[in-house]
Amino acid sequence: MASAHLRRVAAGTAFLGAGALAASWLTSEAPSRVSAAEISGKKLRAKRTLPPRDEQIKSLQTEDEFDVLIIGGGATGAGCALDSVTRGLKTALVELDDFASGTSSRSTKLIHGGVRYLQKAIFNLDIDQYRMVKEALHERTNMLESAPHLTHPLPIMLPVYTWWQIPYYWVGIKMYDLVAGSKSVKSSYYLSKKDALELFPMLRGDKLCGAIVYYDGQQDDARMCLAIALTATRHGATVANHVRVTKLIHGQDATGKRVVQGASLRDELTGKEWDVKAKCVINATGPFTDSIRKMDDQKVKEICCPSSGVHIVLPGYYSPDQMGLLDPDTSDGRVIFFLPWQRQTIAGTTDRLCDVTHDPKPTEDEIEFILGEVKNYLNPDVEVRRGDVLSAWSGIRPLVSDPNKEDTQSLARNHIVHVSDSNLVTIAGGKWTTYRAMAEHTIDAAVKACKLPATKECQTDGLLIEGAHGWTPTMYIRLVQDFGLECEVAQHLSMSYGDRAFAVAKLASLTGKRFPIIGKRIHPEFPYIDAEIRYGVREYACTAIDMIARRLRLAFLNNQAAQEALPTVIDIMAEELKWSEKEKKVQYEKATAFLAEQMGQQVNRASREKMSINLSKDEMQLYIKRFQMIDKEHKGYVSINDIRRSMKSFGEDVSGEELHEILKEIDTNMNGQVELDEYLQMMSAIKSGAVAYSRFARMAEMQEAVVEKEGLMKKVSVERSGGGEHYLQ
Ligand SMILES: Cc1cc2nc3c(=O)[nH]c(=O)nc-3n(C[C@H](O)[C@H](O)[C@H](O)COP(=O)(O)OP(=O)(O)OC[C@H]3O[C@@H](n4cnc5c(N)ncnc54)[C@H](O)[C@@H]3O)c2cc1C
Repeated sequence: MASAHLRRVAAGTAFLGAGALAASWLTSEAPSRVSAAEISGKKLRAKRTLPPRDEQIKSLQTEDEFDVLIIGGGATGAGCALDSVTRGLKTALVELDDFASGTSSRSTKLIHGGVRYLQKAIFNLDIDQYRMVKEALHERTNMLESAPHLTHPLPIMLPVYTWWQIPYYWVGIKMYDLVAGSKSVKSSYYLSKKDALELFPMLRGDKLCGAIVYYDGQQDDARMCLAIALTATRHGATVANHVRVTKLIHGQDATGKRVVQGASLRDELTGKEWDVKAKCVINATGPFTDSIRKMDDQKVKEICCPSSGVHIVLPGYYSPDQMGLLDPDTSDGRVIFFLPWQRQTIAGTTDRLCDVTHDPKPTEDEIEFILGEVKNYLNPDVEVRRGDVLSAWSGIRPLVSDPNKEDTQSLARNHIVHVSDSNLVTIAGGKWTTYRAMAEHTIDAAVKACKLPATKECQTDGLLIEGAHGWTPTMYIRLVQDFGLECEVAQHLSMSYGDRAFAVAKLASLTGKRFPIIGKRIHPEFPYIDAEIRYGVREYACTAIDMIARRLRLAFLNNQAAQEALPTVIDIMAEELKWSEKEKKVQYEKATAFLAEQMGQQVNRASREKMSINLSKDEMQLYIKRFQMIDKEHKGYVSINDIRRSMKSFGEDVSGEELHEILKEIDTNMNGQVELDEYLQMMSAIKSGAVAYSRFARMAEMQEAVVEKEGLMKKVSVERSGGGEHYLQ
């Protein structure tokens, strides 16, 4: 431990010294390549209305040849499509699932320069690493400015537990501000222990010495990716989700060289297959990069080294509304963070190596590990409970080695752009924050390698993204005033759709109440409304999963709430997309499996089943009594009808779907009824904190109160009628 401290002191001194040496390159600003006239041009809105998906598919089937075909609709692919189309190139993009369904919806949602990389750059006087941070800081500003509705600055607290770390962190963070220069979000500052605890009251105070607060950005990653793809579409790109590249098509160029000339596509919704021709094919498939590289050349060496990162979502009260917490260097060298996001808290830690899959699943070990780490930072008054995990997901980071370099063993720190012998252009690695710069480098390489007829230079630096044009932070007030929307709903619409929120509001149905006039919530705890489902279909949502996971972020925020909203979501989508009853059932089953496997519902349930029954004799007796009150016919189990009757007895008229939801919460063996042991298990899980809340448990408690009240009424009426219990006995 002592040696670790010494190492850090030495490192701190080196950091200060090296920092002075590096000061000259720190302050140098990257020359701006864009003139004022160009910037105002970039603020203009592309006029094209969004063509429906059918038209996009038709265009993919009928166009003679595209200049560029991009494979992959994550941040990187969407960024490439926007860059390519705005240079005047005839552009197409295909994504086998939904936009951002891969890593791009599963990130930590930070728009950052990389504080840790700066530390390394300065320690090692490493100019490449420094340039990487500088570029990321430039891109951070670009994202904040080009999509202000989907992004915001986020203060992040670094807790400091030893005195000597205060100047060490302070200098480091000030350098981060310095490197950002005019692109700095806001200035970092030091906080005393007292002030830190005032701002972050749930923070553990015993060993705390103080804290440093610095700023990065935060975004809604899935909606940002979609907004970039939609912007590309508005500028004229043909963009289709649920279309897979199954094969690359090769031919010969004028010199007789074997080159990629297009791809075979399959519409995953209809099964229809066809070929599309393109002068240049770009592989932007993130963790799947090698699968496309192998379509080009079976013998090519794999470059992707995937690692997975799990995030858990906890209720908002785990962090203040407007302050994140990050420890970049825990005692065992990991990073731990918990950040407020969409009124909840996201917590996570460093990635682990994994296999590539389209449906990564969080594991119980990973969730327990994060919870264990979170506990170390929180005040002992805050009980960190397994049952508070509302959702959990895993994302795969596409780390790559650089095929352009001889040493293919070590991983590239940044993104790589590689052009194969047959002109397949691969863009891989990098991070969300730098998607635009990655796209610029890729299209530069594509134009050069495939001699593309670009009419302009890169246009995307400063280019406004879908929804940004007429957006202002107070725009939501007009939504309340003009449409009679709830304030919380209006704020949510404004921050998700920007100036398109008015188009969304127009689709909202009447509530039948005096206020809000329009906008029926699809779940009482969240500001998502019916109109968003109808609008989401116009934004190419094709499945219930597209809707609950990426158009709305409900699946990521609370998988149980997403499950509860699912029937409403499917009903509205069915109206829009003319789904049959059979299709609705298929959609329900697929979305339920997605929530169970990829959003942590299954691991949450399994963690409860693992628990042994830990109730006292008195508690057991109480719960057996309650159970028998619901199971009136003494069948030994509680059926759906028992739940309905019980709910009715205290005036709740619950729909069939809600009844099934209540049953599902507790019916661990999935046999459609609740046995006594399942109920006792649930009560044990609630007692130990593995489960936060159960409607069945609450119902049993209320049923007991009803039965007791009925008993009391009976007694009173017998006594009043002149009779008496003892006479009846
Ligand atoms: C846990 C975690 C946290 C992160 N946090 C941050 C962060 O806070 N900030 C930050 O800047 N970066 C972060 N990153 C990095 C960032 O999320 C990724 O670098 C970025 O999302 C990668 O985008 P992509 O488009 O390259 O890949 P993806 O988003 O995975 O997109 C690739 C797409 O290609 C599609 N595809 C694959 N094969 C085919 C085919 N045959 N046909 C058609 N389509 C195909 C896939 O379906 C997929 O949608 C994080 C990464 C992880 C793993």
